[in-house]
Amino acid sequence: MDIKQDQNETLREYTARFNLAALEVPEAESQIKNCAYVRGLKPGLFFDELQIRPARDFDDIMSRLPGYLQLEDARMARKAEDNKHKTPCKGLPPRVPPPQAEGPPRQQRTVNEVTRFDEYTPLNKTPEEIFHLIKNQPFFKAPGTYRDGQPQQGPNNKLCEYHNAYGHFTKHCGHLKYQLEFLVRAGNLHQFIVRRNETQAQRPQQRNVT
Ligand SMILES: [Zn+2]
Repeated sequence: MDIKQDQNETLREYTARFNLAALEVPEAESQIKNCAYVRGLKPGLFFDELQIRPARDFDDIMSRLPGYLQLEDARMARKAEDNKHKTPCKGLPPRVPPPQAEGPPRQQRTVNEVTRFDEYTPLNKTPEEIFHLIKNQPFFKAPGTYRDGQPQQGPNNKLCEYHNAYGHFTKHCGHLKYQLEFLVRAGNLHQFIVRRNETQAQRPQQRNVT
């Protein structure tokens, strides 16, 4: 009953030590062992698990343990890898890269590919008009390349006020259109969404954006 998980002791080590000690008291009932095990456990994932879903008995604890041992191993491997200087950690599995998302790897995608939705919600004002109405709202974010002051130079005289840069007109800014759709989906632009009872004539003409 006095076994306690040491601060530096892993779940695996603590459980092994606990089970070894339990062999000395074969008459101890599963319920008692359950209580003693949880009492000695230091705060952590498995501790949390047993607080949220208390174990019926010690066998129940043992049946839930393997997943948490794996989790512990994975966390330790990651920690070791993050802390390692030059020497690889023996016996620890290499970090598995996350599964590739569909499509080309992120860094190979062009800006247009990642800032484009498949479908856009019909709006009752043009992107440029909406931009001027909401540009000072807290939910509105300027693009990462935005700089206050004089517009940034570009390949032509077309000024985009959203980017504060020359290169294309605000009304043709695909990035702005993307941000507006993003905000529509986040619930910030209710008042600009075309309702079903609005007539077709009230909708602005759809423009192609580049
Ligand atoms: Zn722009």
